[in-house]
Amino acid sequence: MAEQAGLSGFFEKYLKKEPLFVSKKVLQVRYVPDTILHRKKQIDMLASILAPSLRGDLPSNVFLYGKTGTGKTVVTKHVLSEIEKVGGKANLKIVYLNCKLKKVADTEYRLIAQLAREMGAEVPATGLPTDEVYNIFLKAVDDKEQLVILALDEIDRLVSKAGDEILYNLTRFNSELKNAQISIVGITNDVRFIENIDSRVRSSLGEEEMVFPPYNAVELKEILEDRAKLAFKESACVDGVIAKCAAYAAREHGDARRALDLLRVAGELAERENSETITEQYIDSAEEKIEKSRIIEVVEKQPKQSQAVLFAIIALLQDGETKVETGEVYGRYTEVCKTVGLAALTQRRVSDLLAELDMLGIINAKVVSKGRYGRTKEIYLALSQQILEKTKEMLSKSLV
Ligand code: ADP
Ligand code: MG
Repeated sequence: MAEQAGLSGFFEKYLKKEPLFVSKKVLQVRYVPDTILHRKKQIDMLASILAPSLRGDLPSNVFLYGKTGTGKTVVTKHVLSEIEKVGGKANLKIVYLNCKLKKVADTEYRLIAQLAREMGAEVPATGLPTDEVYNIFLKAVDDKEQLVILALDEIDRLVSKAGDEILYNLTRFNSELKNAQISIVGITNDVRFIENIDSRVRSSLGEEEMVFPPYNAVELKEILEDRAKLAFKESACVDGVIAKCAAYAAREHGDARRALDLLRVAGELAERENSETITEQYIDSAEEKIEKSRIIEVVEKQPKQSQAVLFAIIALLQDGETKVETGEVYGRYTEVCKTVGLAALTQRRVSDLLAELDMLGIINAKVVSKGRYGRTKEIYLALSQQILEKTKEMLSKSLV
């Protein structure tokens, strides 16, 4: 009984307190802000590329690329919705699809089927030959004289799952249409994507190309300030908190999503501890929490071989050493392989895996000269103690 009374007291107190958050959804990824800062150039350029559609003329295909959180999606959605508003009377149809969506766009069949549905056709979830699905889609588009703008976001995800033939097929749409025309807005977070596609496909899909550079810390700060005003009660953020958030998010590449996530998680941690304000300490905790789940997720997705290499490094560094050399790593790795029943790869292949772990930010590898003994690599772990513990735990489970 006593405990129950205590709990209701807690809830009453909780309800009486003014909440830190006024609107949490303002900090969520799906929220579309009223003002988009520092992207005037990109907004104007995309608008002028697509503007001919308002007069019924076919706009050039355009490719947008830049790292995650650089505003590609938000800018595209903004420009498309403005065109939709103004273009009320034009025979204009705008379709936006994010290819990272599972079950909607993870195979060529599903993507084209979904596009056909957007155009009003009915397509079964499976069972037709892909050619047939293309025909249904093209027929639905060609049903009347119209201009279709197809925005395919995170198109690299689709290509990595379904192959790049789909890109070639996209370029051929217009030659098969009599009444309608299609123009394509392709978006990718993978900056190298466009370099790796067939040059004919590139020149067709990327008639225009737009680059979204990372934001710098000052820009991120302004973006965050705008949102914080709507998300939190007044003076919830202590001085310097937003700047710190921006600085953290700008460290790797200026990623607005990461910045907003940081602020949201910091707010949630502060709220959980019944803090009246968000202090810098909460930003640190939020950074640690986000980084932890990122690393764990990345390590979980690694192939077993790569996990065995990482496990060997962690095991070698257990006794307070800060670095190991590649030769030692290879030796320990072969032991790990024996224990868990993996066939050991050659030293050469293990070097490749080390390079990948380095790229993912899990280890740091530094080439050092050993004088006349040639060169070797020194391997450092790039994980904090807390993340390290969690990673070790995860690896021991995964490897057995
Ligand atoms: P990308 O598509 O390049 O990965 P997004 O457009 O999804 O990036 O942006 C990530 C998050 O940051 C979204 O929540 C978006 O609203 C916000 N954001 C990005 N750029 C801006 C900006 N210039 N002004 C305001 N918010 C922004
Ligand atoms: Mg995006």
